[in-house]
Parts: sequence; C-alpha cells; structure tokens
Amino acid sequence: MAGLDGPQSGLPAFLLVPTDTKVAETTVYDLIGVGFGPSNLALAVAVEEYNASAGPRRVEAMFLENQPEFGWHRGMLVDGATMQVSFLKDLATVRNPTSDFSFVSYLHGTGRLIDFINHKALFPLRAQFHAYLEWAAGRLGHLVRYDARVIAVEPVLADGHVTAFDVVVAPREDGEPERRHRTRNVVLAPGLSPRLPDGVTRSERVWHSATLVPDVAATDPTTVRTAVVVGSGQSAAEAADYLHRRFPGAEVHAVFARYGYAPADDSPFANRIFDPEAVDQYFEAPEDVKQLLTAYHRNTNYSVVDGDLITDLYRRVYEEDVLGERRLFIRHASRVAEIRARREGADVDIEFLPTGKTETLAADVVVYATGYRPGDALTLLAGEADACLRDTTGQPRVGRDYRVATEQHVGAGIYLQGATEHTHGLGSTLLSNIAVRAGEILASVCEHRGSPALGAGVDAPSGDRDGRPPAPLA
Ligand code: NAP
Repeated sequence: MAGLDGPQSGLPAFLLVPTDTKVAETTVYDLIGVGFGPSNLALAVAVEEYNASAGPRRVEAMFLENQPEFGWHRGMLVDGATMQVSFLKDLATVRNPTSDFSFVSYLHGTGRLIDFINHKALFPLRAQFHAYLEWAAGRLGHLVRYDARVIAVEPVLADGHVTAFDVVVAPREDGEPERRHRTRNVVLAPGLSPRLPDGVTRSERVWHSATLVPDVAATDPTTVRTAVVVGSGQSAAEAADYLHRRFPGAEVHAVFARYGYAPADDSPFANRIFDPEAVDQYFEAPEDVKQLLTAYHRNTNYSVVDGDLITDLYRRVYEEDVLGERRLFIRHASRVAEIRARREGADVDIEFLPTGKTETLAADVVVYATGYRPGDALTLLAGEADACLRDTTGQPRVGRDYRVATEQHVGAGIYLQGATEHTHGLGSTLLSNIAVRAGEILASVCEHRGSPALGAGVDAPSGDRDGRPPAPLA
C-alpha cells in the first residue's frame, strides 16, 4: 500500500511521511497496543469480551510485545512474596464480574478454587498471580505478537490530517524483516524502567532489584559473605529477606535514610484513593489539590513495606541478636556515600547521617532497590510527539479517557496506560484499576470510530461510568 498521497504542502516537517512508505499488511486495525504487560492484557480481555457479541462492529486489535513471551516483573518473583492488591482487582472482575478471564475463573479452571477459598487469602502469591496472567495471555495469543520491538509510531496523512499511524516493528535477528502495521488508535503501555542513582552502573555484582531473582540464581552463594541492599521500599525489604535466605553464609546490610521501614497504608479509607470514583475526582481536581492528595497518600505505594514483612525482618534481627549470630543488619538513618566497584563486588562507604561517621563494607553483592521511573511514552512518536499537547511541566495532556490531547490535525488516537499519574492519580502505575481503565479506553476508541473528530481535547468523552464499553448494536 502506498504511503501518503494527500497534499502535504504546508504541513510541519515532522508530519511528512515519504510517499513510498511500504506497509506490510493491508489490515487497518482499530487499535494497536504497544507493550503487553497487565494493562494492555486487560485491554485485550475487554476487546475479546466486546467482540464476542459485537458482530460487524467488532474491534480489530493487535498487541505488540518486545519479550519472547508474556512476563511481568519476572525478576522479582521472589518465592513466598504475595500480591499487594486484592485478587478481585484482576484483569476483568471490577469491569465485568461475570468475566471468565477473572482470577476466580482461573482458579476454577486449574482446580484450585476450593483450596483457595479455604486459604482465606485476599492477596495470593505473586507467583500464582503471574501464572494467572500467563493463563489469560495464553488464551489471547491470537491478538499478540511477541518478539516484536516497536521502534516508531509514524503518522499516516490524508488531506493534511493524521488519520492513522503506522506502527513499525524492528527487524528480528532470525531474519524476519521490519514490519509495519496500520492502526487508527495506538495504546502505549511501555511500563516502568529500573532507576539507579546517578553515577551507579550495573555490573556482575552490582544489581537493580528488578533482576534480583535471576542475578541471585547466577551467583555461587559460597562467594557471598557480605551483601548490601540500598532502599527502604517493598522491593528493598523483599531483597533483604531474599538475600538473607538465599545466601545463608552472608551478612546482609540494609541501608536507607529513614529511621525504620515504613508500613504501607492499606487501610480501607486510604485504599479508596485507588477507586474508579477517585480517578474521576482526581482528574477534575485543581493542580494544587492533586499535589496535596498525592502527598497525603504516597505512603499507600511508594517507599513503604508490607507490615507483616517488617515484623518478620525485625523478628529475625532480634532472634539473631539473642542467639549471638547476627547476619541481618538494618543500617537506618544512613546513606551510601560512595561506591567503588571491584571485579567481584564493590567497596561501599556507608555514612550514618546523625553523626556523619562513615564505615566501609567490602561487599560481594550490592542490590539497588531504588525504584522505577516511567519512561516518556511519547518518545516512540519521534518528531510527531510535538503534536501532542503538554502541560506547563512538560507532561502530556491526557483526557479522562486516557487519550492524549493533540493538535487539531491529528484525528487518530494516542492512548496512554500507566504514565498518567499526573492526571489520573496514584493508581496509574498499579494493577488496582486496570480492568476499569481498559473498558474506558475501549469505550473511547468505539466512540471515536467513524467520527470525523480531528484532535482529542482533554474533554473528550469518557467511557461508561463503570468502564464498560458501549453495548454493541444488536
Ligand atoms: P519505591 O517504593 O519507589 O522505593 C524506592 C526506594 O529507593 C525508597 O526507599 C527510596 O528512598 C530509595 N531511593 C530512591 N533513590 C535513591 C537513591 N538515589 N539513593 C538511595 N536510595 C534511593 O520502589 P519499589 O520498592 O521498587 O516499589 C515500586 C512498586 O513496586 C511499589 O508499588 C511496590 O508496592 C511494588 N512492589 C510490589 C511487590 C509485591 O507485590 N510483592 C514487590 C516489590 C515492589 P526514599 O524514600 O528515601 O526516597
């Protein structure tokens, strides 16, 4: 198919696409999802359920994922670690309680429903929830292409308007050439990237918690006598616990600036900050109120630890102290002043902040559990990102329906999953709201379909209040 035949004169350079651009397939999708983690998986579920009764109004969708198979934070699948979100906030239940893509349906299908009920657990093992996500992804294999690294999202022009995007997938090492897929809407869900402090680089013995499990598996435990964990969030506490168990001959030093680990606020009133209704209220709130609410409730998510794990770590420290066999050291009110990497580890200068006194540990392993940063999801749009409107802080302006506000000539839709904390609140990067959000995005795609709407202002219509896509025509 030829690229652009429409008049291009007078358009900004970033919107000019060569007319000899080739598209590998003739399908024009209604929706292409970039990234296939839980957010776009939930969207795939919503599409599948919608299409089951949509008849000719079905939504043609495809999802592209860089990984060779489904995987969600595999590097942190620590044995024994549990979810921090109720299993009822799965891929579908809150949007469609009768969905057969629910966690309960998965349990039923794998013969564990009764055992799970007897377990009286609201927060399943992360390993089991991961197996559930894999199960759902496996059932939707017809909508996904793995090993598909998206390198660009290019505009397709007609009569001076961006009517679609070509999603460009890099050539593969196995010889598969570059591929292009055309779509009227793109849903970007690139996830989060591990964050290391400035000046720190990953090495064989200096890790980020994101790869903790495979890094530990690749390390001979007899070579580890001293391990350091930096940070005081959930990942840091889980890393301290894991290293302590997996390296039984090693001292583990947990280094952080707080006086003690702070418990995650998962009390019921605070938890309402993740409700679908809270997203409405946050979205409508003035900027100063948004900042106030985020500051009040940061401790539902960031730099906090599950209370049971804090108790367990304290119990271990106390027991070791009583037995005179100390291996777990909590270096509170401290910071890593300097780290000097060696071939088999690193020398770590730890400063005790109240006194300024510094001690150097010869660490065989250092784990930075220093959190994640959201990428700029719009970078894939290359020069065309300029057509996306930004707020005064440079963040994308996003509608309630997660559609990025654009200049008027962009009629095709750009949706964001995840990178919307500044507009939709604290639940944006979490699982809490993915089922409802998926329904809202699908509803918006359906509402815009066939309409001549050029541009998507922040007041673009959102989906049904409960996040259900519009009912298909009978
Ligand atoms: P996080 O909550 O953002 O915590 C990052 C930690 O790193 C904080 O203690 C922070 O200290 C510290 N830090 C950041 N930059 C630093 C620097 N330059 N030097 C020293 N310390 C630094 O990240 P996370 O623990 O990875 O958690 C991220 C998300 O994943 C959360 O939603 C969490 O609940 C989730 N998670 C879930 C599970 C589970 O489901 N079982 C497991 C792990 C993580 P300050 O606070 O002092 O800045």
